[in-house]
Amino acid sequence: MKLIVLGGGPAGMTAALQARELHAEVTLLESKRAGGTSVNDGPAPVRTLARAARLARDAGSWETFGLQGARPHIDLAAVLANARRVAQYAHEKKHMAEYIRSTGVELIEGVGPAHFLDQHTVQVAGGRTW
Ligand SMILES: Cc1cc2nc3c(=O)[nH]c(=O)nc-3n(C[C@H](O)[C@H](O)[C@H](O)COP(=O)(O)OP(=O)(O)OC[C@H]3O[C@@H](n4cnc5c(N)ncnc54)[C@H](O)[C@@H]3O)c2cc1C
Repeated sequence: MKLIVLGGGPAGMTAALQARELHAEVTLLESKRAGGTSVNDGPAPVRTLARAARLARDAGSWETFGLQGARPHIDLAAVLANARRVAQYAHEKKHMAEYIRSTGVELIEGVGPAHFLDQHTVQVAGGRTW
């Protein structure tokens, strides 16, 4: 059996891996990069931003705890860059793309949003079809 999975987030990766376990020939098309919201846009970078917010907030109560010092200046560009760095770190640490490929799934990343041309044909940016 041949299967095409659209989207390499947790749902798509799970579907692709389970299909491989059932010996299907699987192609996983990911618009951007494997990992989905969980790794690339969601928890990892957002929690890093939240940590920065908590640190900035806590600086407002230093004096209550007998601590002295100027409140930190918030460099938003640096805060955002750090959130991206953490997301990248999480991505690299998990070796998701390598792992998926090692199971025999054909993973194709960075293809833009795939769309159906008809009931049996999927196309990605650049015109390639399956
Ligand atoms: C701030 C934040 C914090 C979160 N915290 C948690 C948490 O603590 N615990 C938890 O369990 N969940 C958490 N979540 C939710 C979790 O991230 C999602 O439930 C999970 O990512 C959903 O997985 P998914 O595979 O369905 O979708 P997604 O992760 O969104 O993956 C979809 C993938 O499909 C790709 N795609 C979309 N359309 C196409 C197309 N047409 N063609 C090709 N590719 C396409 C996208 O690029 C994306 O990579 C959080 C979410 C956010 C935003």
